[in-house]
Amino acid sequence: MRADLIIRNGHVVSMDGDFSVHVGGAVAVSGDRIVAAGPASVVEGVTATQEIDAEGGLVIPGLINSHCHFAMTPFRGLGEGLPNRLERFMWPLERDMVDGDLVEAGAVLGAIEMVVAGTTCVVDSYTYPERRALAADKVGLRALIGQTIMNQRTPDSPDWRAGLRRAEGWLGDWAGHRLVTPILSPHSPYALDDEALAGIVALSDRSGCSITMHVSEFEWEAQRLRERRGLTPVAHLDALGFSNRVFIAAHCIFVDDDDIAIMARGGMSVAHNMVANIKAGKGVAPAGKLRRAGIAVGLGTDGPMSGNGIDTLGQLGYVAKVANLMALDNAAMPPRDVVEMATIGAARAIGMADVLGSLEAGKKADIAIIRTDQPHMQPLYDVYTSLVFSATTRDVRATIVDGRLVARDGVPLHADMPAAIAGVRAAGARLAAHVGLPPLEMSGGHAIPPARPFLS
Ligand SMILES: [Zn+2]
Repeated sequence: MRADLIIRNGHVVSMDGDFSVHVGGAVAVSGDRIVAAGPASVVEGVTATQEIDAEGGLVIPGLINSHCHFAMTPFRGLGEGLPNRLERFMWPLERDMVDGDLVEAGAVLGAIEMVVAGTTCVVDSYTYPERRALAADKVGLRALIGQTIMNQRTPDSPDWRAGLRRAEGWLGDWAGHRLVTPILSPHSPYALDDEALAGIVALSDRSGCSITMHVSEFEWEAQRLRERRGLTPVAHLDALGFSNRVFIAAHCIFVDDDDIAIMARGGMSVAHNMVANIKAGKGVAPAGKLRRAGIAVGLGTDGPMSGNGIDTLGQLGYVAKVANLMALDNAAMPPRDVVEMATIGAARAIGMADVLGSLEAGKKADIAIIRTDQPHMQPLYDVYTSLVFSATTRDVRATIVDGRLVARDGVPLHADMPAAIAGVRAAGARLAAHVGLPPLEMSGGHAIPPARPFLS
């Protein structure tokens, strides 16, 4: 048999139904697909134009980031610690400053940040989806990209009706693309009224596309809706028809047992953004409980303004440690469960488990290779433990998306990283000037004064 690429001499962490790990195994890729994955013998007699010696590293399914806003890299570190940062600072600043060029510049860097860290797929919500799609395509990152829809004016739409029209166009424009899957990303149940939410369900019905939304992220969100409707956000969305389709609910921190039952029954899935959530002091979603109820849970980083880092690999350890801390139990969240939420569990959550999330013949060739030759990775007893508690993004040797090598040893192969960094620094300087902050290099670490015009 002839293949395009063979990866040899790695420990293949397949994440298949049996969680098979093949010590000294191999993976063969032809075109965009895995054609063989298993012990070294699976590639006997196979020749390929390109070979990678994994040198005893871990060959894993590419990591899936189930919730992000990767165009927001220019906002990283801005307005930290401000009260009600989202509504009083972020949204007004975005309305003033975000345009298609800023979105694309931010998204190119965000996509680079992910692929060099072994992330091969992202679910992303923001404005200007076409510019984020261009960025993902350029860098070589697989992306489910949604158009933000809100009751209020956003950078690309004056109101939700315009946002919905834009979304409809967006779904058609990039349909069938190799890497980009258009989806719907209405903002949240608190930022949209019933008429808008019903319009989104109707568009999802007409197009068959997936939906993602922030759900039960804030305690006040649940309280507001309970006062208005007597319903939790999950029950409200279920009543409006968001069940029985691919619906990725991001956050789900404030969900009760009834919500969990509704989500399990209605097939809703969850993007668990634990690191961003603990940073903001919001709380921790009950990921273990959601999983035990049969709900598909994937890990998300949230945007670079929320979680700062948008690499999934660097967050795995925290996900386990905080779950264990919350439960006062050192086995509450086993490392294998965390890897599952970053790979095949996330693939289930985003409705793509038939093509993503594990290293098996027939699946898309989205693969990361993690080196194990550095001091902090010694010795190697259990691949999941080493991946979750020891590996860092600097250990990512290679990232392959759709059968194509897109990053090697921290360097993107299809995008200009210095130019992307310069682009985001320039955008950052414009943001700093707008909020009255000296340019970043000269700020001396000053916090933004709390009385800027963005704070109402
Ligand atoms: Zn978010």
